[in-house]
This record gives sequence, structure tokens and C-alpha cells, in this order.
Amino acid sequence: MLENLSSRLQQVVKTLRGHARLSEDNITDAMREVRMALLEADVALPVVKDFVNQVKERAVGREVLQSLSPGQAVIQVVHEELTRLMGEQNVGLNLATNPPAIVLMAGLQGSGKTTTSAKLARLLKSEKKKVLLASADVYRPAAIEQLKTLAKSLEVDCFDSNATQKPADIAAQALDFAKRHFYDVLIFDTAGRLGIDEAMMAEIKQLHELLNPIETLFVVDAMQGQDAVNTARAFGETLPLTGVVLTKLDGDARGGAALSVRHVTGKPIKYIGVSEKVDGIELFHPERMASRVLG
Ligand code: GDP
Repeated sequence: MLENLSSRLQQVVKTLRGHARLSEDNITDAMREVRMALLEADVALPVVKDFVNQVKERAVGREVLQSLSPGQAVIQVVHEELTRLMGEQNVGLNLATNPPAIVLMAGLQGSGKTTTSAKLARLLKSEKKKVLLASADVYRPAAIEQLKTLAKSLEVDCFDSNATQKPADIAAQALDFAKRHFYDVLIFDTAGRLGIDEAMMAEIKQLHELLNPIETLFVVDAMQGQDAVNTARAFGETLPLTGVVLTKLDGDARGGAALSVRHVTGKPIKYIGVSEKVDGIELFHPERMASRVLG
């Protein structure tokens, strides 16, 4: 993943390291390269602008230009700003509430919601939490069955909903079930459409009000590039999101979503999906991602 962006930025790093002294012009040239690399990686334009300005402002500062290895100092600034762009620290799931802690999954169809629900259930189970999965995806054929099958393979309980029910009824019943059976966590998977539409947004808003989740995670396919960011913005305007899960980072995603989504939504990327398998999930670490990108 992110190979193109990485190799472009590594080239800039190499050039900067090659200078014993740096002038403002050297930095301007380097920033032009960084800007192009980010745009080609599908990072949203306002994000690129802010990022480049921020780096430049710091890089032409006296400490950097007069340091013993100015190239290295600029690279350090780029690294720090990349990390900041992606949110500094990892913020894991917040489950600090009266049980059941509810995690609501939102996103477009195919983004990886169902798979991610199962992945999270597996993680929480390994932390000895009693987890209930439930699905209100009554539109996509076999979605509920898919979750039930995944739950079974993980030996996690799955609420017995079906596609003839109304999503709001499923939510009310699943919540009641989770309370009565003392589950620690209820992971609630919802329907996604192919694009954003009003009916879908109204439905998930209703589910949000009904469930009052402590976590509302927006699941987005990293391969969607700029579209991922636009979708994130639309969901963020409708729902009080608490975090983002960026899926399919094992594919040939160009990286734009990873770098833009935090800046655009103001919400942290909490996890990344790195394979189709149920163990293909990792905590997102901005600092490590920045190191990976800079090589
Ligand atoms: P939903 O419609 O949002 O519930 O999406 P699904 O969970 O059904 O996922 C859609 C497709 O993406 C499935 O084929 C999943 O196996 C695949 N998928 C989900 N997450 C990942 C991931 O992190 N990496 C890869 N390679 N595939 C994923």
C-alpha cells in the first residue's frame, strides 16, 4: 500500500539529505515535489495546501536552516506534520459506559462494515468481553446471513434478525436482548447503499437515536480515494461520528484517504483493515504510518 507516495517522498528525502546546506529555494523545490506527490496520492487539495504551508513555515525557520543537518531537520518536520495530520496518537475504542457499550457501524455498501464488525467482535472477545453482533442490513441480500456465519465461526453470539424486519425494530430488540443477557458490547451493523441517499441517512440517524451508541464508526474503503473523503464528510454531517475504520489498506490504495480523512472529518482513524480475513485488523498508529510513508 501507499507505494507510489512512499517512493515519491523518499526521493524528496534523498534530495534533501544530499545538501550540506539548504536555502529557502531548496525547500520550496522540495515542497513542490511533496505537493505533487500528495495530490497524485489523492490527498484532498485543502489538506495538501495546509500541510505544505505548515511544513514550509517550520522548515524555513532558523532552527532548521541553521541546523547541522538541515535536510534531516526538514525530514523531521515532514514526519511530525504527517503524524499530526493523521491524528498524533492512536485512539482505540471507547467502551467506557454502562454495559452494553454500543458500537454502531456506518458506511456505504461494500465498504467492509460487516467484515469489520466481525473483526472487532473477535478482538473484543480476545479481551474477554461478552459481545453480541446484530445486523439491520435488510436490503443487501444475504448480509444478515453473512454476519451470522462470521459470528458462528468466531463463536460470538449474533442476534437473530431477518430481512423482513424493520431496522428500528431490530435495533430495539437487539438492545433489549443485550441488556437482558448482560452483554458487555453490542456491535450493530447497518445497511449501506451504493451512494449516499436521504432515506439511508434518515434511517441511520434514527438507529443512532434509538441505540445511543458510545462509538459510531464510519467504515470506509481506502481504495475510494477522494470519494472516501467526500463520503466521510457527508456521514460526519449527519451523524456524530466518533471514529473511522479505513479498510482495504492491503490493496493498492494510493493513500489519500489515510492522509485526508482525519483532517476533513476531525475524527480519528481508530483501526485499519489489512485483509479480508477476520484477523485482518490493526490499530491505526499515525506515527508508524508516517514512518512507513517516509521510508
Ligand atoms: P459491507 O457491505 O460494508 O458490509 O462490506 P463487506 O464487509 O461485505 O465487505 C465487502 C468486501 O470487502 C468483502 O469481499 C470483504 O471480504 C472485503 N473486505 C472488507 N474489509 C477488507 C480489508 O480490510 N481488506 C480486503 N482486502 N478486503 C476487505
